Amino acid sequence: MRHLIQTSDLSIDEIEQILRKATLFLNTLDSSAKRPTQTLAHTNIITIFFENSTRTLSSFECAVKNLGGSITRLDVSRSSTSKGETISDTAANLNAMSPHAIIIRHQSSGAPVHLTKSVSCPIINGGDGAHAHPTQALLDLLTLKQCLGQNLAGKRVGIIGDIKTSRVANSNIELLCRYGVDLTLIAPPHFLPTHTSLPCTHDVREVIDSLDAIISLRTQTERHSKQNYGSLRDYAHDFCLTRQLVGDRDIIIMHPGPVHHNIDIEDELLKDPRCKVLDQVRNGVAVRMAVLEFFILGSEYHGQAS
Ligand code: ASP
Repeated sequence: MRHLIQTSDLSIDEIEQILRKATLFLNTLDSSAKRPTQTLAHTNIITIFFENSTRTLSSFECAVKNLGGSITRLDVSRSSTSKGETISDTAANLNAMSPHAIIIRHQSSGAPVHLTKSVSCPIINGGDGAHAHPTQALLDLLTLKQCLGQNLAGKRVGIIGDIKTSRVANSNIELLCRYGVDLTLIAPPHFLPTHTSLPCTHDVREVIDSLDAIISLRTQTERHSKQNYGSLRDYAHDFCLTRQLVGDRDIIIMHPGPVHHNIDIEDELLKDPRCKVLDQVRNGVAVRMAVLEFFILGSEYHGQAS
């Protein structure tokens, strides 16, 4: 039984297979004439999200429905976890209902991998603490390839913002380094990871000329035990991506959402065609369709069908 806990669970060949399939799905989603084959008909997928989510949860729901599967959303606030049931027990009970996959988001790093011991279906990590968000990294990879070309080796990408507590940054760093992307981390000292071998700077102006893309991240206030920085307004003064900063450079702007308007990215720049935030959301549905097929039907089926 395979699970998707982090991007390193997949080889480059498998990732390429998933992205090829996602690209085929994008074509069907764009066309009113074509519908994706209902490959997940008669499957039931359970989502259990212990943390808020807008894009990831709805994107998985759309992905399941697009492939003809049914989805059961466990309402955590009404579940027995709020009565003290352990998440392992919750998972074992859900597993007894014979789902074909369980998609989980949890505030604690390591919760999804812990659950793999209590279930007999694939666990898909929809984000765990500051650890990993594998499907976000896969959809970011697809977006970068669409914009910068299939071969990302040597392309220069900056990650800007609260990198230290971001699971999106962790997953992107693992994945993009494997693709040979030249990464630079841009943040004030308190938002940079304590141990990294990647080049870091506190000054976006110093590196922006050399970048092909920037991935902006929001401040993960819910994961800070104390506020060790001034106001977000001060932060924005140095790290907000603005039209003026970007100028007429040939550069792609990305963000996993939710965007803190005028703190992470200025409203004017969000409307700019170089800003790919909504393309990322659209790609997310197709990537999650491909991921679900891969983990539920198996890589052999998935490979043949692409
Ligand atoms: N939506 C992303 C996540 O769940 C990014 C964020 O929340 O900042 O990690």
